[in-house]
Amino acid sequence: YQPIYSLKEKCVVSLEALVRLKDEKLGAIPPDEFIPLAEQNGTITQISEIVLEECCRFLAKHVLSNPSLGIRTIHVNIAAAQCLNRNLKESILPVLERYHVPTHMITLELTERTAIEAPKLMLWHMQEFGKIGMGFAMDDYGNGNSNCSYLIRFPFREIKIDKDMTWSYFENPTAKIVIENEIKTIQKLGLPLIMEGVEKKEQSDALEALGVDMIQGYYYGKPMPETECLRYIRRMHFAKEEYGKS
Ligand code: C2E
Ligand code: CA
Ligand code: CA
Repeated sequence: YQPIYSLKEKCVVSLEALVRLKDEKLGAIPPDEFIPLAEQNGTITQISEIVLEECCRFLAKHVLSNPSLGIRTIHVNIAAAQCLNRNLKESILPVLERYHVPTHMITLELTERTAIEAPKLMLWHMQEFGKIGMGFAMDDYGNGNSNCSYLIRFPFREIKIDKDMTWSYFENPTAKIVIENEIKTIQKLGLPLIMEGVEKKEQSDALEALGVDMIQGYYYGKPMPETECLRYIRRMHFAKEEYGKS
């Protein structure tokens, strides 16, 4: 789980579930390598089931019983193959019900590439999930074509600006102007905004000054196994309380 830090609330408010695969001989295999293969051979659906089940188990065990942790949602990535299934909701909802996880505690992350595979079906999924209180975040915003059209066509509840965009914001004056405008557009639409790939304090401070809501990046924490992640969240809470006292 990687923490998503709220610049306004000064604490971790969400987590993104990022799957890991370890092979006895090959060691750790990065998701950028095995997810595309799993998409090709169809095993992505089973991987997604395992990830969702793990997230619900984690929420039920550690978060529902402990609201003071302040975790409101877990973001789960969904793949194109899953969205082509008309019964997507029927495959997801029973898992949440089994663990008594409220629907608003899972946010589904979707890239443009996924959304555009079957736009009509995707819109229908988003409306159906919306009826039961489950939202979609647009992942990797800025990394594809014609991004603003996705804002117009699909009822996303949250936007995540891609890490390459974040990096070019700090390296390229032209990108800075364009991305600042994108940020303003998203803010005017009233959509919560997460910037990905923030690795330095100066970057976080600059984005805070622009009114960015949330940050996901190595500066606030790398993806961690669950025990380490829980320890990290508690430490952040403690630091916030201590800061408040001083
Ligand atoms: P993503 O959904 O865009 O996830 C964010 C990726 O950015 C993660 O890589 C994370 O470790 C990395 N990242 C976050 N902050 C920083 C930063 O500050 N600096 C740098 N250099 N990297 C940062 P990861 O875990 O290797 O995942 C790669 C991709 O694999 C994900 O990109 C996602 O597309 C896919 N993936 C991961 N888990 C799942 C899953 O459960 N299901 C599906 N369908 N795809 C997944
Ligand atoms: Ca993601
Ligand atoms: Ca992303």
